[in-house]
Amino acid sequence: MKKKEGETWRRGDKKAVLPTSRISESPHPSFYPSKRLGQNFLTDQRIIQRIVEALEPRPDETIVEIGPGRGALTTPLLARAGALVAIEFDRNLIPLLTEKFTSEHFRLVQSDALVTDICDVIRPAIRTRIVANLPYNVATAILQRLIEQRNCVTEMVLMLQKEVVERITAAPGSAERGYLSVFVQAYCETEKLFDVAPSSFRPAPKIWSSVLRLIMRPRIAADVKDDKLLWQIVSAGFAQRRKTIFNNLRSAPSPLQEAVKSHGGASIVLCLAKVDLQRRAETLTLEEWARISQVME
Ligand code: SAM
Repeated sequence: MKKKEGETWRRGDKKAVLPTSRISESPHPSFYPSKRLGQNFLTDQRIIQRIVEALEPRPDETIVEIGPGRGALTTPLLARAGALVAIEFDRNLIPLLTEKFTSEHFRLVQSDALVTDICDVIRPAIRTRIVANLPYNVATAILQRLIEQRNCVTEMVLMLQKEVVERITAAPGSAERGYLSVFVQAYCETEKLFDVAPSSFRPAPKIWSSVLRLIMRPRIAADVKDDKLLWQIVSAGFAQRRKTIFNNLRSAPSPLQEAVKSHGGASIVLCLAKVDLQRRAETLTLEEWARISQVME
């Protein structure tokens, strides 16, 4: 397996830390959790077990953990999974993780999950399941990035802010429904599993969290030829939540606005798609968004 910059990889009794990772070999005694990196570490064993049970790692699979932190989830995951690839951004945590996890089935990648190529880091495996207590500040960006890599991801068990999970699972007509709901539901079956209190973490966050299961669909659940156009339409539709879908589409940014005009304007597009002009974006089903897209394909 090819090593990358900053990657630590144990195989047998050989440990290799590539020269670019200029970090001390032992964890710094004055390690402070970083707020910027969303470091709220899980300490509640009951919650840790529930997350591992929800994933049910198998001995014949490679699991990816995003942001292992100090390894609270990593230990029980590694006990059950065939192999585990952990992607941690914080260089200060690398020595601790390297010392703690010496199994040949463990691989640590020091990298930003926002740019990591999951399909690449899991080789020789070709499919993986992902588990993470995601850092709050970049959780939705990481989630979108993971969904984009769905050709090698089959399922995810993720902890996010409770309010974000409510947005992701929101049904049409719900006030929480937004771009994120439509996007995630188009590519994944979503299931909220359980809530987690702030007291389950150190340091304790101010807000509650929820654990979410996402099962990747074999293909997008919308009958569209062009996903990109669909996401431009959904994004424009939700641009100003108080406005109707008609007004939002009429004032869509370029190049979507030109595309709407070239198809006769927002009212014609919506009539052809059989969507009432007075509707608001949060009331539309994925099928209705897809119909608007089909009119403009
Ligand atoms: N899994 C550990 C636990 O449950 O105790 C830590 C979870 S903590 C909420 C989030 C972890 O993600 C931290 O270890 C943090 O350093 C890491 N992290 C933050 N941003 C990241 C990024 N862009 N890519 C990968 N890891 C990141």
